[in-house]
Amino acid sequence: MAIRLGNSCLNCDNLIEGDYCKVHEINVSERHTCDSFEMKAVLKDNPDCTTCSRYEGPTCAHPQKASPGMMCSHWAPQRAQA
Ligand code: SF4
Ligand code: SF4
Repeated sequence: MAIRLGNSCLNCDNLIEGDYCKVHEINVSERHTCDSFEMKAVLKDNPDCTTCSRYEGPTCAHPQKASPGMMCSHWAPQRAQA
C-alpha cells in the first residue's frame, strides 16, 4: 500500500478564499476530501521547508537547519492559500 500525504480540502487546489470549494460550491474544512481532490501545485512541485507548515514555527524539528531547498521527515503541508 502506498504511503501518501493526507488528501484534505486544506491542500486541495479547488479550495478558494473563505474555505469554499469551487467544485461543490459549499464551505468545507480540513476534515473533508472527495474524489475531485487536486493537490495544490505548490505542494506537489516544491515540497521543502518553505512549504512546510512547521517552518519558522515552534514545532519545526530542525529550526537551526530549516531553509529553502531542504526538508525532513516532519514536513507537513501548509494550509492552502486562496
Ligand atoms: S474538490 Fe473535494 S477535496 Fe477539493 S476542496 Fe472541494 S471537496 Fe475538498
Ligand atoms: S521540513 Fe522539517 S526542517 Fe523543514 S520546516 Fe518542516 S519540520 Fe522544519
